[in-house]
Amino acid sequence: MGVGMSQIRLLVLGLCLVASLAGARHASAQVPPQAQGPAAPPQTDINKISDEALIWLQDLIRINTSNPPGNEIVAAKYVAGVLQKEGIPSEIFESTPGRGILVARLSVGTFPDPSRALLLMAHLDVVGVDKTKWTVDPFGGVIKDGYLYGRGAIDDKGMLAANLATFIALKRTGARLNRDVIFLAESDEEAGSAFGMKFAVEKHWDKIACGFALNEGGNVFLQNGKVQYVGIQASEKVPANVEVIATGTSGHASIPRPDNPVVHLAAAIAKIGAYQAPVQLNTITRAYFEGLAKVEDDETGKWMRAIDTSDRQDHAERIISQNLFWNAMLRDTVSPTMLQAGIRVNVIPPVAKASLNIRLLPGNPLEPLVAKLKDIVNDPQIRFEVQPDGSEAAPSSTLESELYRTIVKTAETEFPGAPSVPMMSTWFTDSTPLRLRSVQAYGLVPFPLTDSDLGKMHSDDERVPVESFRTGVVFLYHVVTAFAVSQ
Ligand SMILES: [Zn+2]
Repeated sequence: MGVGMSQIRLLVLGLCLVASLAGARHASAQVPPQAQGPAAPPQTDINKISDEALIWLQDLIRINTSNPPGNEIVAAKYVAGVLQKEGIPSEIFESTPGRGILVARLSVGTFPDPSRALLLMAHLDVVGVDKTKWTVDPFGGVIKDGYLYGRGAIDDKGMLAANLATFIALKRTGARLNRDVIFLAESDEEAGSAFGMKFAVEKHWDKIACGFALNEGGNVFLQNGKVQYVGIQASEKVPANVEVIATGTSGHASIPRPDNPVVHLAAAIAKIGAYQAPVQLNTITRAYFEGLAKVEDDETGKWMRAIDTSDRQDHAERIISQNLFWNAMLRDTVSPTMLQAGIRVNVIPPVAKASLNIRLLPGNPLEPLVAKLKDIVNDPQIRFEVQPDGSEAAPSSTLESELYRTIVKTAETEFPGAPSVPMMSTWFTDSTPLRLRSVQAYGLVPFPLTDSDLGKMHSDDERVPVESFRTGVVFLYHVVTAFAVSQ
């Protein structure tokens, strides 16, 4: 059984009292006025801060940062205001008018070691909405039936508010840090990060240089009211876009032509859609299936264990691939996403185009896959054009780092019985530019969420259960204090 909320509260209260005593000893200058006097509440009451964080999250949801256009500076300024009230200075750097990054730092001393620093990061922008499909105002910050609804409630303003709560809790307690803790809010994550993380890394590395980072990308998975497992993202697939272009002779639609590009493109896409790249496991996915086998039902667990064996591998691959997420973790994938052809219903067009969104396993080159698709399509009227907007592959974060071990250990206490497993996300995150700079970055949205709630991300009625949000804030705070505060 998972730990009950009352147990969590007791545990938290205990830790808070210990931490508040420690805080009072080390940082008397930072004791806020309301915490003085005999009846003062514990300064590090992270539960209280999680209540405040819920309000910050509501406020952030109400600031529409749909990307495009983003306009994230409004949200960045809001965050700057919250930090300022705590006496924490922050800096906003604009990448382009109205967009950019916010950085703040809690310093360990005059000569901090950037290779030890911990970066808490989250993005300010959100994907757009189809308002007609929502049951509440997506930018209303509505709390209903125990859920906070709104675009960004999970992705990624929830994490932003949790980071903010943790950062502020460190400040309020005057925590004796053993490394710098940097707070970063970035723009443009949902559209390739050119105006956010890429800008931050290229132009302001001195402000965010770190050895470790906590970001979105992994999750705490909730099933039947109990945390099933904690998925820590340590690697991610690499996106690439390819256009499939069919050309033929334009003409009057009343005289059908065998070289009609619409017909050729449709046939090509059908073949591409049926293609399955071979299964390839890596360090992260091997450990993922090994760990998950322990919490899945006996049958699924059995096939997860068999996936890397020589005798039953083929059958195991077929069974595991029935789960679409696992299927996408096991191989390079190709999703046709856009079609474009014709200008009149009675005109055969000279060209028809399709867009393929490809997700490569890290380390796999694109060219052989495109060559394979060309081969399958086998049509001289079709050509493939690789688009220049692909991403770079980064090395995985190690599963041996102090931060990884701290997350696993804290999760054991916070969610007893639920194993931690490393994950490779099929989507990309802003961790890639960090991993390319040897940062050990881990993705972990700390809120326990069901598959159904996770499915609402980027979809309609995105929402976070209020209790899960609170639990997540406490979990994140405990990870960060275990890692960055001298015990
Ligand atoms: Zn996100």
